[in-house]
Amino acid sequence: MVRLKIIMAVIGAVLLLLPPLALAQTRDSRPWDEAVVCPRCKTDLVVYILYGEPKLDEELKSALASHKVELAGCLITPDSKRWECRRCKYRWGDVGQAAGTLPSKKSFNP
Ligand SMILES: [Zn+2]
Repeated sequence: MVRLKIIMAVIGAVLLLLPPLALAQTRDSRPWDEAVVCPRCKTDLVVYILYGEPKLDEELKSALASHKVELAGCLITPDSKRWECRRCKYRWGDVGQAAGTLPSKKSFNP
């Protein structure tokens, strides 16, 4: 009976430890997790403006829900910026630099 308790405790500990380990292995760094501050008002309440058609995984959904990311659609103009400040609405950052890392599928059907 004591042995069974030990086994259960070990299984419990493994189950507790596994999810963070699995996340640490599969998690790639997301651009909106960068520590960015507004160059104008110095707040860190900034939104990453995401262009293209990203895959709506759980991580992106939670980032959208917490206003860390904003979807701007497929159209990138010379005025498009990478970051927007939530306090002073200032926009900055070159979109072109990271555009190559985004999916560029033209499968949007209005
Ligand atoms: Zn600002």
